Amino acid sequence: MRVQRLREINTLAVLESIIAGRGESSRADVATATKLTRPTVSALVEGLLAAGLVEERESVRAGTGRPKTPLVASSKVVGLGAEVAADHLRVLGLGLDGSTVIDEARHTEVALRSPEQTALQLAELLRSCRERLPQGTRISALTVSLPARISGDGTCVASGPNIGWRDVPFSKLVTDAGWSETPVFLANDANLAAHHEADARPGESFLFLHGETGIGGAIVVDGTPLPGTHGWAGELGHLPLVPGGARCGCGLEGCLEAYVGFHALRKRAGLPDSTCLDTIAGRLSANQELTDQIGHEIGTALAGAFTLLDIDSLVLSGYFAPLAPALHKTLSQALSAHSFAEQIHISPAAQSRGVEVLGAAQASLQRVRADIGDWLSIKD
Ligand SMILES: [Zn+2]
Repeated sequence: MRVQRLREINTLAVLESIIAGRGESSRADVATATKLTRPTVSALVEGLLAAGLVEERESVRAGTGRPKTPLVASSKVVGLGAEVAADHLRVLGLGLDGSTVIDEARHTEVALRSPEQTALQLAELLRSCRERLPQGTRISALTVSLPARISGDGTCVASGPNIGWRDVPFSKLVTDAGWSETPVFLANDANLAAHHEADARPGESFLFLHGETGIGGAIVVDGTPLPGTHGWAGELGHLPLVPGGARCGCGLEGCLEAYVGFHALRKRAGLPDSTCLDTIAGRLSANQELTDQIGHEIGTALAGAFTLLDIDSLVLSGYFAPLAPALHKTLSQALSAHSFAEQIHISPAAQSRGVEVLGAAQASLQRVRADIGDWLSIKD
C-alpha cells in the first residue's frame, strides 16, 4: 500500500513537472527537476503515457547531443466546469495545463424557470460543448458552481434563495437531463472564487466579499479558506446590517445582502431588470452618492468580523471588485469606526469576473490528481 502511494506521489511530481515544462521537458529534464532517478522517471512516464495523461512530441536534436523527446500534458484530458448564475449558464473546459479548450455561455433568467428546466438547458449546453471537443477527449469530472448552499456530499442544493431553490437534487437532475458521462459535483460559487483568490495570494489572511447572484464570502487564514462546522463559515452577506430590516432571501431580516445584493442594488439604482451581472458595476460606478452609501453599509456590517478575527485585509470580488475605488472612502471609514483595526487594507480580487466557472473547472482537474491511482490503472 505504501509503495503504491509513493508511486502516486512521484507520478504526480512527474506530471506537474511536465505541465510546468510547457512541452519543452524531456525525461532527463524531468529527472533534474524532480530529483528522481532517470529509470524511475522513465517508468513513471510510461505509466502516464499508457494512461493518456501525457504525450510525446517528435524528437529534436539539439547541437551534437543525443536527440531529445519532449513530453507534453495531454490535450485530450479536460476538466469541465459549469456555472448557474442569476442571468446565465456557462460551461468552461480546461486542459491539464490550464489552457481553455471550450467556453460557452447562454443567457437565461434562472429564477423564472424550474430547476428541471435549468437542468435541461445546462445538459443541452454541455452536450453542445462535448460535441465540439476533439474525438477521444476524456472529461475528468463536471463541477457545477451555484449561488447556493450545497449539501455535504456535493449533490444537492440545500438552499439557493436568489434563484428560488430549496432541497433540489441538482446532480441527479442534470444526469436525468442527459449528462451521464461523469458524476456531477456541486459547489458554492463564492467558495470556488475564494479558493481561486487564495491560490493567487499564497499564505495571506483576508476576508473575501464576493458580489455575484448573491453576496458570498470567505474567511481565508494563512492561505486556506475556513470551511466551518456546517460549511457556511464566511457567509459575510448574511451578517446583520439593519436589525429588523429588509427581509433577506435567506429568511433573516436586515442582512447585508438585502441591501447590496444584485437584485437589491438593481432596484436601489433604478436600473432596468435587463441590467446584468456583467454591467451592474459600470452602471453603479457613475453614482457616487449610492456607492458612498454601499461602502458605508459594507463597512458597518463587516467591522465586527475584523475585530473578531484580527485580520487586517479585505478583498472585494465579483461586481464589488471594479467598484473598489468608488467604495474605498466610506468603506474604510466605517471599518475604522466600528472595529479595533486601525487600518484595513482593501483591494480588488486578482480576477473579478468568471472566476466561479474557472474555479469549478479547476476543481474538476483536481480530481485527476486526487484519483491518479485510478487513472494509472486505465489501459486503453
Ligand atoms: Zn440573509
